[in-house]
Amino acid sequence: MSQIKLQPPRGTRDLVGEEFRRHHRVIKTARRISALYGFEEWATPIFEDTRVFARGLGETSDVVSKEMYEFKDRGGESVTLRPENTAGVCRALVSNGLTQSLPRKVFYAGPMFRYERPQAGRYRQFHQIGAEVLGAGEPLADAEVIACGYHIIRELGLDEGVILEVNTLGDAESRDAYRAALVAHFTAHRDRLSEDSQRRLEKNPLRIIDSKEPQDRALVADAPTIEPFLTEGARAHWDALRRHLTTFAVPFRENPRIVRGLDYYSHTAFEFVTERLGAQGTVMGGGRYDGLVEEMGGPPTPSVGWAAGVERLAMLMEKAGLTPAAPRLVTVIPVSEAEEGVALSVLQSLRGAGIGAEMGYRGNLKRRMERANKQGARVALIIGETEATQGVAQLRDLDAGTQEQVPFAALAERLRK
Ligand code: ATP
Ligand code: MG
Repeated sequence: MSQIKLQPPRGTRDLVGEEFRRHHRVIKTARRISALYGFEEWATPIFEDTRVFARGLGETSDVVSKEMYEFKDRGGESVTLRPENTAGVCRALVSNGLTQSLPRKVFYAGPMFRYERPQAGRYRQFHQIGAEVLGAGEPLADAEVIACGYHIIRELGLDEGVILEVNTLGDAESRDAYRAALVAHFTAHRDRLSEDSQRRLEKNPLRIIDSKEPQDRALVADAPTIEPFLTEGARAHWDALRRHLTTFAVPFRENPRIVRGLDYYSHTAFEFVTERLGAQGTVMGGGRYDGLVEEMGGPPTPSVGWAAGVERLAMLMEKAGLTPAAPRLVTVIPVSEAEEGVALSVLQSLRGAGIGAEMGYRGNLKRRMERANKQGARVALIIGETEATQGVAQLRDLDAGTQEQVPFAALAERLRK
């Protein structure tokens, strides 16, 4: 056989050991907390008709213009590995005929795919958790979905280093007026803009505002903000959002520079950011998108939601020393082959009682004890000939080093302590 070394594809990672435990903790916590807020979990396909994203996310967004994993399947259909899940959820709302039973609150978790330049916290296959409130235009929906996101971050123990930044993008009328002012400002300094931003100036000038190019930053700093262009309605939405966030006890900071990467946002835009992850500092981002369900062929359905990067949250957990410990099991040890049958029924009855337990496949007492220690078992249950006949086990507490004799019937009760 040839000696090829197979590696995971560039920009993807195996989740093994500690890495998986952090990942799992994020998703499990998000599931639990989002359920407290009345979100139900959906799962949509990992690939979709390319049009779901091309229409939904907007042709000029970075994701659609340069990051999509798009390919023709064997039947010649153009499909795309989902770069995000909001468009899929909106498509599913329409496909399943649910646009009449609104509002609906949806939670999801799963892998996403973007053709990006891989670096710490930026991968080609990564994972998101997300929450959407579909069919509610009230600013209370914006505040509640944000409060849920904040609750998850707090429950993970990460609220210290993470801050919520909010902004308003106004309604269509406010944005048109603001766009005109931005075009005027940036056109005056056109040749000092980055190449990407010169292109955005024609297609989507708002996006220049969140450019990460150093040469754009100075021009952005002097650019007008949206505040003076807000219509009365847009201002009322913005005021109510901030009021509700305060009532929900969610701390926030206003940041007029947040516009978000995808094209579909209006009114609320927000990010949970941290300084602990270098350049990849946004852990959760979202906003209000009032036109997306319509793009999927449904009726006008005002909606609001967020998505968070599981890897970035997991990295924060690692930095904060919050990696969940591996589970510690009970190890059952038959002293000789003659006790193996008895030991196996003890093993199964413990598992049946909800107690994590293991038994090695082979080895003498010494080897089995060594292995129990190495695997971090909390207790060894030693069953020799005498114990087997009497229906008892020697229970050795591997932390305390103490030993006691416990009848089989009392083991589950004793081990639950
Ligand atoms: P960024 O500015 O970092 O590229 P984005 O605006 O493209 O982020 P969204 O599309 O809003 O990100 O996705 C929501 C969250 O998903 C991000 O805040 C981030 O935590 C995570 N995320 C996005 N792209 C990646 C990626 N390539 N690898 C890991 N996490 C990602
Ligand atoms: Mg991006």
